[in-house]
Amino acid sequence: MKEDCVFCQIVRGEKPASIVYEDEETLAFMDINQGVKGHLLIIPKEHYVDITDITPEAAAAVARTSVQVAPALKRALNADGISVWQANGWAAGQRVFHYHVHLFPRFAGDGLPLHKSKMASREELDRIAELIRKHL
Ligand code: AMP
Ligand code: ZN
Repeated sequence: MKEDCVFCQIVRGEKPASIVYEDEETLAFMDINQGVKGHLLIIPKEHYVDITDITPEAAAAVARTSVQVAPALKRALNADGISVWQANGWAAGQRVFHYHVHLFPRFAGDGLPLHKSKMASREELDRIAELIRKHL
């Protein structure tokens, strides 16, 4: 755990999150930036910076949760597909230095709008998280 890490703070319950799925090792929650409705993150509960830092076991746990959550995300948003994105290092676009995997629902002809900035309200995030949970 890292004191000043926003994702560690979410794991500790010190910061709000709209949680979709949780198990002993991982947490899936809505990304605060809903450029694409349904954009969510999957993290290990332990603090690892990136792919060069995480253990194979923790990365496998994150992958397991991704596989578990992805079909629910697809059904909940009636998506045509899902993009998985994972950045390592500032140059690669990483901005939160606690390992995480992004899942984006994709729609035919959506033109990959991954970084369109659109901050969502907590109510909207909770509503989408609940919708996805119902499809787990
Ligand atoms: P990356 O560029 O891969 O490091 O992505 C970090 C992601 O974390 C961005 O998509 C942010 O919108 C998201 N994010 C940052 N703070 C929070 C937060 N408190 N709750 C949910 N998502 C967050
Ligand atoms: Zn952390």
